[in-house]
Parts: sequence; structure tokens; C-alpha cells
Amino acid sequence: TSFGFKQVREDEKSKLVGNVFSSVASSYDVMNDLMSAGLHRLWKDRLISKLNPFPGMKHLDVAGGTGDVAFRVVERIKSVSHRAAQGTLTDMEEDTHIYVCDINPNMLEVGKKRAAEKGYNEEQCLSWVQGDAEALSFEDGSMDGYTIAFGIRNVTHIEKALSEAYRILKKGGRFLCLELSHVDVPIFKDIYDVYSFSVIPAVGELVAGDRQSYQYLVESIRRFPKQEKFAQMIQEAGFEAVEYENLVGGVVAIHSGVKL
Ligand code: SAM
Repeated sequence: TSFGFKQVREDEKSKLVGNVFSSVASSYDVMNDLMSAGLHRLWKDRLISKLNPFPGMKHLDVAGGTGDVAFRVVERIKSVSHRAAQGTLTDMEEDTHIYVCDINPNMLEVGKKRAAEKGYNEEQCLSWVQGDAEALSFEDGSMDGYTIAFGIRNVTHIEKALSEAYRILKKGGRFLCLELSHVDVPIFKDIYDVYSFSVIPAVGELVAGDRQSYQYLVESIRRFPKQEKFAQMIQEAGFEAVEYENLVGGVVAIHSGVKL
């Protein structure tokens, strides 16, 4: 393509991704709704349904940004335990801990503010940790679940992120990845191409005043491995029962696997 990002060297990629998200952090949540016509909310809900969070679980959401996935995990656990305990906190719920990890402190700051607005108390169940998906600061076998939503395609070495996910999960722990993927439905594919290559950068310029960052995001979707290939990479990291589900004809896919 003519976007000029094709030649980005690997060592420059992390810096570039950092810049993109620093520049979009404040407008990130608005842009998400705008670009996906609100659909990202349904996709994240689907991710949480598949994760099936439970009271007492230790969960890590990587590239967690402004907390969208983590908040949903907390809400789901609350609703499960309230049903079980008729509104009172159970011991299990008190053990629950959700960690949000992101490389960009600006995104985490926005997330912390949102958490405060929602009345979540950090000590209780949510922690915000700055860190790289490729080198997590969490211990081996320490998590029941790992999610990464719209994050893995920005990681420089995807294999490293996958092997870190495998390392920090307990046996029986689950990996779930929500990511913009590849459309394989003939006419829909053409429409989607026009939308992503023309509409997204234009809206990015109009709303966030930043065309280049959004062009980069579109490019990164095209470069990301196709569904089958990515499933194979997850398997190569050691995961079993690897599968994926396409949503909206492959605009997004949810890949999952278990550490056995
Ligand atoms: N998961 C959130 C959501 O779905 O709303 C945020 C997704 S946002 C598109 C991508 C996030 O990945 C950004 O917050 C960015 O800072 C983070 N990120 C990029 N590279 C990363 C890395 N190597 N390790 C951890 N986070 C990373």
C-alpha cells in the first residue's frame, strides 16, 4: 500500500505503537464507538461470555488500555456471586483479582479514572500494571485467565506474547484473544476495504485530529496473520483445544486455547 508503514523496522515498531496510543488515549473510547458503530461493546461482551469469569478468579487482561475488558470481568463476577449469595460478598469474591496490564501509562490513567467513577476500589479487586505483553512481570502459573483485546496485533513479537501468556497461566487456565481479523466474504470484503482504508483514516483526522495513527491501525490489521495461521501460532505456544470464532464475517475473531 502507499501508507509508508510497510518498511517500519521492528525496533521502531514499539515506539511507533507507543506514540499512536499516547496520541489517542484521551479520545480512545469515543473513537472506538465511532469506528465500530458501537459494535466493539458487543464483541467484548462475547469475549467475556466465552471467558465465563468466576468468583475468586485471578485474571490478567493484557493491553487492557482504559479497562473496558477488565470492568466487564468484574461486573460478570459480581452478578454471578450476587445470584449465589443473594447480594452479599462471598469469600470467593473477595479473593477475586483482575490485573490490567498495558505498556502505555496514559491509557492506564484514563482507565483508573474510569474505575474511580464506577466506584471500584483498587484494593478490592483491580490492579493497574504498566508492562509489556512480551515480558510480563507476573509469576509462572499464577492466573486462571488471560485476555487480550485489540492488543496483540500491536505487539512486536507475537510469539513472545503468546509464550508469556502460556507461562503465567495455571494448568487449566484459559487464553482468549479478541482481534480485528480478516474478512473472507466476497462483496462484504470490498465494502470493508473501502471502509477501513478510506473512512477510518478520515474519521481519525476529523475527530482525533490524527490521520496517520489511524492509517497505521488499518495497516496493522492487514499485516496481522489470518485466523488459521494465528490459531496455529497459539498451538505452537503450547495451548490445547485451540479454536476461533469469527464475528461479522471475520471483521473480528475470538481465538481461544487452554493450558493443560
Ligand atoms: N484492550 C483495550 C480495549 O479493547 O479497549 C485496549 C485496546 S487498544 C486498541 C491497544 C492497547 O495495546 C493500547 O492501550 C496499547 O498501549 C497497548 N499495547 C500495545 N503494545 C503493547 C505491548 N507490547 N504490551 C502491552 N500493551 C501494549
